[in-house]
Parts: sequence; structure tokens; C-alpha cells
Amino acid sequence: MVRVALIAHDEEKAEIIDLARSYEDLLSTFELVGTGTTGKRIMEETGLTVERKQSGPIGGDLMIGAEVAEDKLDGIVFLRDPLTAQAHEPDITALLRICDVHDIPLATTRSSAEFLLDGLARRTDAD
Ligand code: PGA
Repeated sequence: MVRVALIAHDEEKAEIIDLARSYEDLLSTFELVGTGTTGKRIMEETGLTVERKQSGPIGGDLMIGAEVAEDKLDGIVFLRDPLTAQAHEPDITALLRICDVHDIPLATTRSSAEFLLDGLARRTDAD
């Protein structure tokens, strides 16, 4: 089964919930994992189930990075706030790096996230 991680900084949480609603039918066919608050909000505001890791600032991004290192994830939607410095920037950089190492697609904006999810949908069709 396709396994996807969903992460959003606070300023982007409304956007990721809107994205999850728009793609709810597709996402319901995927295994979903997310950082703590993002996962909680998506579960509260959609019918989706998300396996919740720690909140990003206390290690959730690294936990998701560990799944990438173990080849467990097929893609990541990480809607980042480009205008606000994050206390856990080093963890975010580590997550981006491990995705590059393993060639795991990671989308950081709404439009690139839509391309990523549409691409994973095609992969599912091909299976
Ligand atoms: P959160 O973490 O979903 O727990 O807010 C996201 C992040 O800032 O990495």
C-alpha cells in the first residue's frame, strides 16, 4: 500500500486540511502518517485516519525521516511556512536531506503536493 506522510507548519495547517479534503477519496486508499498536530487536525476535520508521530518541534520530522531511511514511505507532503523561522529548522533540513538521499518525492507547496498525489495515484493504478 502507498504510504504518505503529511506535515504542515502552523500557518499552513488550514491549507493541508483543505488539500486533504480535496483528495480525501484518494488519501483514504493510502496509509497516512503525520506529525502530531497536523495528524490530529486532519483526523478531526476529515474522515481520514493518520498514524500520528510526535509533534514536529519535539522530533516528529525526525521520526518521519527515519521511515524514509527505512524505505517505508512513498512520498511526503510538507507544507512549510516560508516566512517564519522554525525552532526545529535543523530537523527539517535533515528530513529534506534524507528524502534526497533515498529519492523520495517531497512536496512543499499546495500545487507541488497535488502533482505528487496525482503521481502516486497513477502508481496505484499501475499496481
Ligand atoms: P505539527 O508539526 O504537525 O506537530 O505541528 C509540524 C512541524 O512543524 O514540523
